[in-house]
Amino acid sequence: MSLQVPNHPKKRVCSLYSDDELLDEDDPDFPPWQTERIVNLPESGSFSLPDSGRLSTPVKEDTSQLSSVIKMGWLDKNPPQGALYYQRRWVKLEVDYLRYFDNEKEVYSKGFISTAFITSVSSVGEVKFEVATKNRTFIFRAENEDERNEWLTELRNCTGGPKRPLTLISGSPLTPDYSGYLELRGLRSKLFTVVASDKVLLYKNAEDYNIGVGITFIDMNVGNVKDSDRRSFDLTTPYRIFSFIAESEQSREQWVQAMRNAIGEALSNSEVVEQIWTEPSNSFCADCGAPKPDWATINLCVVICKQCAGEHRGLGPSISKVRSLKMDKKIWTEELIQVFLKLGNKRVNSFWAANVPPSEALSPSSCSEDRRRFISNKYRQGKYRKYHALYGNQTELNNALCINVQCSDLLETLSLIFCGADVNCSTGMANCPSPESLASAHSQPLQAELIKHNLNTELPQLQTEPDMDLKYYPPPPCVSYEGYLFKTASMGRAVAERKMKEEFSRRWCMLNDGTFSYYEHDKSTNPNGTLKASEIVCLAVDAPEKHGYDFTFELYSESERIYLFGTDEPDSHKEWVKCIAKTFIPATAEPLLRLSFERIGRLKCKDGLNLQKSKVGWFALAGSTLHVYLENSKGEEIHLRKLNELSIQQDNEVLVLVEKGRTLYIEGERKLDFAGWCGAIQAAAGSGGDTLSQQQLTDTDIPIIVLSCIDYITQCGLTSEGIYRKSGVNSRVAALCDRFRRDARSLRLKEGEHQVDDVSNTLKRFFRELEEGLFTSEYAYSWLSITALQDENDKISEYKALLDRLPRVNKATLQALINHLYCVQRFSELNQMNLHNLAIVFGPTLFQTDGKDYTAGRAIEDLIQHYTLIFEVDEQQLDRQLKEIKAIIQMREGHPKFPKPGGNGHFICTVYLEELKDTAEQHVKIPGSMTAAELAYEVLDRRNIPVKDKDYWSCWEVCEEIERPLHYQERVLPILHSAGNESHLLIKKQPAMDAMINYLATKLDVSKNGMMKFREERSILGLGLPSGNFHDRYFILNVTSLRMYKDVRSHRPEREWVVKSLKIYLGIKKKLRPPTCWGLTVVCESKKQEKPERQQWYLCCETQSEMREWYATFLSIQNDGNLWSQDGVQQNRVSRALPDTRHGNVSLIPLRGSENEMRNSVAAFSQDALALLRDLR
Ligand SMILES: [Zn+2]
Repeated sequence: MSLQVPNHPKKRVCSLYSDDELLDEDDPDFPPWQTERIVNLPESGSFSLPDSGRLSTPVKEDTSQLSSVIKMGWLDKNPPQGALYYQRRWVKLEVDYLRYFDNEKEVYSKGFISTAFITSVSSVGEVKFEVATKNRTFIFRAENEDERNEWLTELRNCTGGPKRPLTLISGSPLTPDYSGYLELRGLRSKLFTVVASDKVLLYKNAEDYNIGVGITFIDMNVGNVKDSDRRSFDLTTPYRIFSFIAESEQSREQWVQAMRNAIGEALSNSEVVEQIWTEPSNSFCADCGAPKPDWATINLCVVICKQCAGEHRGLGPSISKVRSLKMDKKIWTEELIQVFLKLGNKRVNSFWAANVPPSEALSPSSCSEDRRRFISNKYRQGKYRKYHALYGNQTELNNALCINVQCSDLLETLSLIFCGADVNCSTGMANCPSPESLASAHSQPLQAELIKHNLNTELPQLQTEPDMDLKYYPPPPCVSYEGYLFKTASMGRAVAERKMKEEFSRRWCMLNDGTFSYYEHDKSTNPNGTLKASEIVCLAVDAPEKHGYDFTFELYSESERIYLFGTDEPDSHKEWVKCIAKTFIPATAEPLLRLSFERIGRLKCKDGLNLQKSKVGWFALAGSTLHVYLENSKGEEIHLRKLNELSIQQDNEVLVLVEKGRTLYIEGERKLDFAGWCGAIQAAAGSGGDTLSQQQLTDTDIPIIVLSCIDYITQCGLTSEGIYRKSGVNSRVAALCDRFRRDARSLRLKEGEHQVDDVSNTLKRFFRELEEGLFTSEYAYSWLSITALQDENDKISEYKALLDRLPRVNKATLQALINHLYCVQRFSELNQMNLHNLAIVFGPTLFQTDGKDYTAGRAIEDLIQHYTLIFEVDEQQLDRQLKEIKAIIQMREGHPKFPKPGGNGHFICTVYLEELKDTAEQHVKIPGSMTAAELAYEVLDRRNIPVKDKDYWSCWEVCEEIERPLHYQERVLPILHSAGNESHLLIKKQPAMDAMINYLATKLDVSKNGMMKFREERSILGLGLPSGNFHDRYFILNVTSLRMYKDVRSHRPEREWVVKSLKIYLGIKKKLRPPTCWGLTVVCESKKQEKPERQQWYLCCETQSEMREWYATFLSIQNDGNLWSQDGVQQNRVSRALPDTRHGNVSLIPLRGSENEMRNSVAAFSQDALALLRDLR
């Protein structure tokens, strides 16, 4: 029988499989490289690795391995299953493993046996010996008797006896950090792969792993892991590349992470830990007793295992400061190490664990829930500690501490501190005022060290409530927090879809010194990514279970990225959210942090009367309330359900919130977080449910749906016969109810579009279906019982008493409704709905009864009849209201198609008719939907100016010497918002319109080319001073772009603009010295870029008609040929909005003039509300 001679490793393919594997001899699928094998028969069944995996680097013995080798040498090995031949093997015995190799240069074994699984070692026959495990026996043959005996002795020494290493517990497999089947490229079947501590071990299958017989293992101190493509990754060592293929991308990530953790483990420094373990009790976890703990908490002075360390971290750094004995080398000063050596787990536990009931004690195999409970009991609550004799006596404790730090008794200090002595107490000595300085002064550096780490420690506190985990422990002022979170790849767009668990990767996250970093794992030194607190602009908390992880939150960065983090732990989620928010919210907005917000962050906004300058604001959205802290101002709350108006304007760049007395413009400085805020604010501003207070409300606490319907009926329905009695069209009523429910604010009831009876029935249905009812289920019966009273005065006082018991919203709503019904019956000669008729309809509706008896009706009758007394109404005000209604009715008789006044919360601005002077001033209330044509006709109507055909009245935006007629369909409000101080709106005719329309009519296509003089606004040294001169250029204008060429013959344009992004004003400022008086000023605002840019340049034409042609072509392109309304005046008159007759919700924008001027004009406007209506007649 020939023995195998080791071949040169570079030439041969290395078999990584155990010899006793005889498989696949005739398998046609067998990898082709198998044929390259030089080795003959006996091993042909083994799986082998392709040569490509081997590196050409010269193989050198890994010296770090040598140290642990107990014995090595050549032996002949007999594969167990009765084969007769022997193979020559290089065999190495280490404490934990017996390994055999092809030759002495090999780094990766052909097989290994965990010494922990070896049950017996015995000599068998001549120079042979047997290594037996429970299931398998390996036979080796030495060269001689002495050699065999040496092997026997060493093997016996390390498989039994007291030297048994702690890492492996006899007969049980090592605890893997990660394990599973992995494909090794080139191999047909998968290998059972185990990542444990600092090694990656390969087994043929899980069964082999369970019996401790493997193929090889890779020491990760020489490893490097790289993703290669979707599912595969390489584990590179200086000797070989192991190319693995995982089952999925997700699985690959986990493997890569696990292997990188192992590298971290391998590279960690063992100097400190070795030193700490020299105190024997420190080599077992202080909490669970697990061997070789390599973590510690430096303020509690216990050495703990990795798993317990995880739970300690959960307590937060104010309770337990967790540090690694292997990685956090910097923290381990000589003093701190000495503290741990002097104290030691055993002595420290004599304090911390003096009273642990055996039933509550941990073991190394305890589950994480038990661990969490125990560790929280032990340190957060101090439940098991040995109480100091002075416990509860603060002064005595402090005194004792000051005395004790002068001696070396560390345990006493520990006991004093954690029984309540104040480490920051005053010693009463000027030269060493604190216990820490006192200790130093008395040459007790270890005492000083112990105190130093407990300066901000939260003391243990027994809690009576069992659910202590929910308590929130605020981190110390300099926020630091760490722990595992699950993270998806950062995104450049909103997270619309549900992210499954597979899309998250586990990351070790740290919050420290104003930086949030995430790492591959808790031992990584280089973060995978960091976010400075100053870069975080928004933190959004998702609704639970929005994604695969139950609790998630999003971080929005300045640079437009979204980072999504998740966890299944609600407490950890809560803690992270609070801590991160705390790092980026400034102290001035600190109260925001106490809210249970769903979104918090910074936004730019304008408000009040200063619309020129944006401010930075800090916002938090909690429920339906938006909390705001603006620069240099106190916090404010905006009740979103009570907004008058909520709209997004200017191409989704400004969110306008109009509430009582003010308007807030939130600007979209960045796209992502702004979009998030818009969505969240809109959602929060919607109705929250079916009770009265959950509706969108006005600032007077009345549901918008109620007020909208009442307003509409007041405007259009008071003369409608049988109003509230006639039924509407059921499907339309249902649709209206639904629209209101979705967003009452956005629905404007319009005459023509909505029918009076549909609206009246919508109001009734709302009250009938209202959860709890208007009178509340609690008090409804009391209201009804009052009707039985005989004395009217008794009735009234009883009703008043009940009214005061109604919730605010119910009371306000009831008053608004009864006021309305009072008005309706005052006009009963027109609508036939007298007191009694209304009561019959509204009694059962409001009390939600079946209407079989008239009690409910009687109650409503009482309320309407005694309206002024019960609600204590100001008679004068009521008179005014009735007068207004009369005016409306009269006006409607004169103008049958007269529109109703708009909703609430519009803007009043000053508009001029034909010229800029006081007598031409008009104050117009401008709703968001108002178009330029509507505004123009509004002003003309007021001045009673008849409009003739071809008058082309337009609304002009005038800015000093240049002006621009607004397109008739252009919305006015955004122009007001963007207009500068020097701009104003002017209503005047557009004299050239006819000429332009005629010119365009002659053209076959809209385009124009020709020469113009061009000048650009250039800034000199960034000062924005105009410079440069007008130069002749050739222009080509077509439906998409305006191109500028140096001259007619040029092929390539010098410049090119998108026509629709240009705003073209007529005229050029005189100080620019335009060469002709037929000029155009062109403003180009690019909104697409991150910072909006405003460019201005000038075009000059030779003649007026030339300019008109260019201008007409521009307008035609920009408005798709629609220059002037086909229907002309009539349509604009019909659809335009009139000012509201009520002025409670007026918001103001000064388009011109000082704040005072503006106030005066508004005051004049408000004083006599009906004056407006009179003007119209
Ligand atoms: Zn432990």
